[in-house]
Amino acid sequence: MRSLFGISRDNLVSFLVANGHPKFRAVQIYEGLYRQNVNSIDDIKVLKNEFKDFLKGNFYLNSLELVRKEESIDGTVKYLFKLYDDNLIETVLMKHDYGNSLCVSTQVGCNFACAFCASGLLKKQRNLKTDELVLQVKYINDDLSKKDEKVSSVVVMGIGEPFDNYDNVLEFLEIINDDKALAIGSRHITVSTVGLAPKIEEFSNFPLQVNLAISLHFASDEKRSKYMPVNRAYNLQELKEAIIKYYEKTNRRITIEYILLKGVNDSLEDARALVEFVSGLNCYVNLIPYNSTSSKFERSDEKAVNEFFRYLKRNNVNVTKRKEQGHDINAACGQLRNKQIKEG
Ligand code: SF4
Repeated sequence: MRSLFGISRDNLVSFLVANGHPKFRAVQIYEGLYRQNVNSIDDIKVLKNEFKDFLKGNFYLNSLELVRKEESIDGTVKYLFKLYDDNLIETVLMKHDYGNSLCVSTQVGCNFACAFCASGLLKKQRNLKTDELVLQVKYINDDLSKKDEKVSSVVVMGIGEPFDNYDNVLEFLEIINDDKALAIGSRHITVSTVGLAPKIEEFSNFPLQVNLAISLHFASDEKRSKYMPVNRAYNLQELKEAIIKYYEKTNRRITIEYILLKGVNDSLEDARALVEFVSGLNCYVNLIPYNSTSSKFERSDEKAVNEFFRYLKRNNVNVTKRKEQGHDINAACGQLRNKQIKEG
């Protein structure tokens, strides 16, 4: 038995056809799930009882349980959900001029142990299943629809490393992009990885035109290996080669994410290393203010950020500074979950 929210339409069609049912049933099912928002298979009126029984013998419908919802003064909303096994995950909704962007989690905890990240403080318990990924978007989309709004873009950048949950994440992307499901345009979907080089190359074969972001944060091997253990497995050279191959295959510009940490990676020497890393890459760099996880790191001061930014500009790097959101509600990934666990 599996959740009907966790199967792409192509896979559902294959399953139905293999069991002697016509293809068009898949569209009827999807319309029931995503347009009529039914709560049970029995509520999909267009289906005959015999077929409903067949579906119920193979699938179930589920939903996420909301444990906590916190809203920032800038409109950012953080949702904490409980899963069927009592694990907790976070999803963050950010309001922009161009629409509502949702940051989705892919794992319960994370094993990659980036030193500056609250999620890395709790080891990975398990991968999220495809339905648990889809339901984060569906839940919040339904919530927004009460105000006549919707989720307009999705960033797969919350708790966990998406490429460490590769197959489920790919099926999730297909479902949220499906025009019979959540219909999020592929150009409005971004997957962010910490730098699993072989998976970046593999991802270049994925047919949807989604965006790829790399959480780089350090442009020297010495520092990156110190603060991001993944660099000991795939160093900067291997990462850069994977990005080049990805670009050759997809022709899609990637984003380099760089969190500025005071006195750690925000000097002009760090900026020089970053310029060298991005030379020859078709990318743009996003400088991100650090959202404190009450660890040993602090956000860079404005002067350092501006000097870093100007150095990149002078060296012809496409660079933007990301505006901070949700500072007053622990919006950095993992913080609300940690808070809830501490409070029991
Ligand atoms: S930054 Fe991402 S990959 Fe690194 S520990 Fe946090 S969730 Fe994991």
